Amino acid sequence: MENPGINELKNWDKKFVWHPFTPMSEYAEEDSVVIVRGEGNTLYDADGRAYLDGVSSLWCNVHGHNHPKLNEAISRQLQKISHTTLLGLANEPSIILAKRLVEIAPKGLAHVFYSDNGSTAVEVALKIAYQYHRQKPNAEPHRGSFVTFSNAYHGDTIGAVSLGGIELFHAAYRKLLFPTYEVPTTYCYRCHLNEDKAKCEMKCFGRLERLIETSGHEIAAIVVEPLIQGAAGMITFPTGALKRLRELADMAGALLIADEVAVGFGRTGKMFACEHENVSPDILCLAKGITGGYLPLAATLATDAVYEAFLGPPEENRTFFHGHTYTGNPLACAAAIANLEIFEEEKTLSRLQGKIEKLWKGLERFKELKHVGEIRGRGVMVGIELVQLTVTKRPFAPEMRIGHRVTLEARRRGVIIRPLGDVIVLNPPLSITDAEIEKLLDETYSSIRMITEAKS
Ligand code: PMP
Repeated sequence: MENPGINELKNWDKKFVWHPFTPMSEYAEEDSVVIVRGEGNTLYDADGRAYLDGVSSLWCNVHGHNHPKLNEAISRQLQKISHTTLLGLANEPSIILAKRLVEIAPKGLAHVFYSDNGSTAVEVALKIAYQYHRQKPNAEPHRGSFVTFSNAYHGDTIGAVSLGGIELFHAAYRKLLFPTYEVPTTYCYRCHLNEDKAKCEMKCFGRLERLIETSGHEIAAIVVEPLIQGAAGMITFPTGALKRLRELADMAGALLIADEVAVGFGRTGKMFACEHENVSPDILCLAKGITGGYLPLAATLATDAVYEAFLGPPEENRTFFHGHTYTGNPLACAAAIANLEIFEEEKTLSRLQGKIEKLWKGLERFKELKHVGEIRGRGVMVGIELVQLTVTKRPFAPEMRIGHRVTLEARRRGVIIRPLGDVIVLNPPLSITDAEIEKLLDETYSSIRMITEAKS
């Protein structure tokens, strides 16, 4: 292999790599950070600089980088076999992992369909739900619509984009997408009904309730990101919303699809976000943290009732005709098993509770900042919405790229974070230490202050 120097790497990066969600005309060669190594919650670049991984390498790293147990599990599997297909064959790690996932998932989820990223986990869920209603006992072939929320994000493939409600990401593809029933989300900070969060009793669900009365019979599934709409800017559903959605899905005779791609594996303080409201969805989508953030893997879990609709003589064509080349990849599944073992061995979830407390206590002082409109989230998932004027909630002009500039400043201070528009996102690995929480908060605070107060 060629062994280029740092300048050459940066040059080739700019020349050959098309970065995701990145305005490439502004992506400057001299600013590119080439990560070469990770250790615990720290990333190191080719220039020898260290950065705290404040967003868990896009919300997926769980126990830190270069964890010996995860490394060992992958190397051990590597000595046996790296990949073999799951189409008609089985492999050891995928079997063991499926059993473990069913044991820890919300009650009733009994079967695991593998794929390799969050978007495909959602595509699989959509196709299963659609086909289920056509094949279940007392089939309802007219049920073909999906209920989604404004500001939703479920991935970048066309089915997942069809469920999406973020104008900036999704509008360009509108004509390619299938229609959904989009209902308002509970963006309480900017409530479209101008209600007071403390007293509103989720009036914004009124549209969904009416929809279910008039068109409930057409609905295949309600699709939701439980507790937090992550990519929307950590928009947080009020307590009880998920339970209410379960009831509404049942009233409509529709399935409930919980997309826990972002919130799963401990990020809200419990293994799965659905546990906070004791809700079991009919279909659960998992990815990101499933392998501890080491390798691409996703799983879509379904109940017996859903699974059984796909059984029958082959000539009846009830089979689920879906499967990616790397479905159930043994290396990724071995990493996922190790990930779950670390949760137990390191008592990750019980140790996390004090860290969450420290994080949210530390965020209190951000409220004094002149341009902090709202701080929201759950567990280690935090969104800090920056605004031009807090009294009117007036946003900054988009061309000011305030969020982006805050994260660049944080990077100069040794912390990697990413914005969603002008919402600054913190979402550190569950292995973050107390000292690292302080660093994450201090540098984010100073960066927000420096960028917003210098320019307004
Ligand atoms: N669903 C949710 C809720 C997500 O946050 C994401 C990614 N951020 C996805 C699906 C898509 O996952 P992936 O990027 O792995 O395709």
